[in-house]
Amino acid sequence: MIKAVKGMNDLFGKKAYRWGRMEEDIKTIVQTANFTEFRTPIVEEIALFKRGVGETTDVVQKEMYDFLDKKGRHIAMRPEGTASVVRAFIEHGISINEPAPFKLFYIGPFFRYERPQKGRYRQFHQLGIEIFGDDTPQMDGEMIFTACRVLEHFKIDYEVHINSIGCKECRPVYREKLVEYFSSKKDKLCDDCQKRIETNPLRLLDCKTCNPKEKYQDIPVMTDHLCEICDDHFKKLQKSLEIFHVKGVIDPFIVRGLDYYTRTAFEIVANTGGSQNAVAGGGRYDNLVSDIGGVDTPATGFAMGLERLFDLIPEDFYQPPMISAGYALCEEAVDDLVHFAKHMSHHPVTFFADYKPRKIKKVLQKADRSEISFVFMVGENEVKNKTVLMKNMKTGEQKLYGQHEVILIVRDLMKAEANFLKKNF
Ligand code: AMP
Repeated sequence: MIKAVKGMNDLFGKKAYRWGRMEEDIKTIVQTANFTEFRTPIVEEIALFKRGVGETTDVVQKEMYDFLDKKGRHIAMRPEGTASVVRAFIEHGISINEPAPFKLFYIGPFFRYERPQKGRYRQFHQLGIEIFGDDTPQMDGEMIFTACRVLEHFKIDYEVHINSIGCKECRPVYREKLVEYFSSKKDKLCDDCQKRIETNPLRLLDCKTCNPKEKYQDIPVMTDHLCEICDDHFKKLQKSLEIFHVKGVIDPFIVRGLDYYTRTAFEIVANTGGSQNAVAGGGRYDNLVSDIGGVDTPATGFAMGLERLFDLIPEDFYQPPMISAGYALCEEAVDDLVHFAKHMSHHPVTFFADYKPRKIKKVLQKADRSEISFVFMVGENEVKNKTVLMKNMKTGEQKLYGQHEVILIVRDLMKAEANFLKKNF
């Protein structure tokens, strides 16, 4: 039997319904905050991720899905969204054509060849937001606040961890301090971290394998080495988060896996105690646009893992839709049911018809199994009298309508739905 590719999931039925509702709610929240949708292709030239995400990152070194196309171009499935958006931002001259700040969001699939486990997949989905053309710490505050708004909507208990990882001026000085500190401890580090001392020493700070931050209490931290401008930026970020009522804890070990961050870095963890509890992360990346060949443009953004978000949303957050269905109880009733289905299609209620004639007992069994709320039946008597029999499956109540009294039917259905939704919120 052919199965889905390892680490990739199918989505259908009730879960797909709840997932769809989750995406709709997210879109409403970010669109209300004036982020507009931005779609980029699933694949890009691999060079974009090498330059944008960083040659020495795990994402690029170990986790990329890449292939040569028929003309021998080296292509990669996108492992994250920022590099693609920056590429498009430059390619379409958005910095010239659109007023700053330019605020956008995306929702879609991403691909990383990681070891699959709960909360970690090879195809996963992210909500991302990016803001171009604004270097203020307050905009970082709003960016983090936007992630919190999404989590608050779904009533999720979370904690925000913030850090500053400095700029081109102060980070190299700090980097030297780190290299010096860890050089004497090299043999206590994992193989990857031994290499990271030379290539990417900041990544030592969040290594889960040899876990230096747990072992050593006196590791130098970036926040003690910020230049005056970065220090001021970080203080103002904290002030704006206070005003937004975002409770952020300073965590000097948030360095983020990707190379492009400057100053603000943050992560949000859900208070579940589970291992895959990082639900969102991001920060400022003021040099990325110019690194990829665009004009110098400050930028900030985050990505939120939708599988992880989905798992945190209580199952009864969304009620299933109220569905009604029409059935024929004999061959002679089928055409009347077609007429009824046509009338119903003009109205905003969820209705479907099942045209295969069945005995009433079978109809009710089937409707019960499909969790139908209202059943409409047309039998011999109904054909004769031009009526339709409605049964409320929850209360057992029955009511006879004229087949053209669709407006009355819809009114009753909508009233029932409003009551149903009110009860459940
Ligand atoms: P990153 O792009 O690595 O900063 O990740 C941002 C968020 O995406 C994380 O906080 C996770 O919630 C989610 N995420 C990252 N990688 C995966 C994965 N392989 N499977 C599921 N979710 C992921």
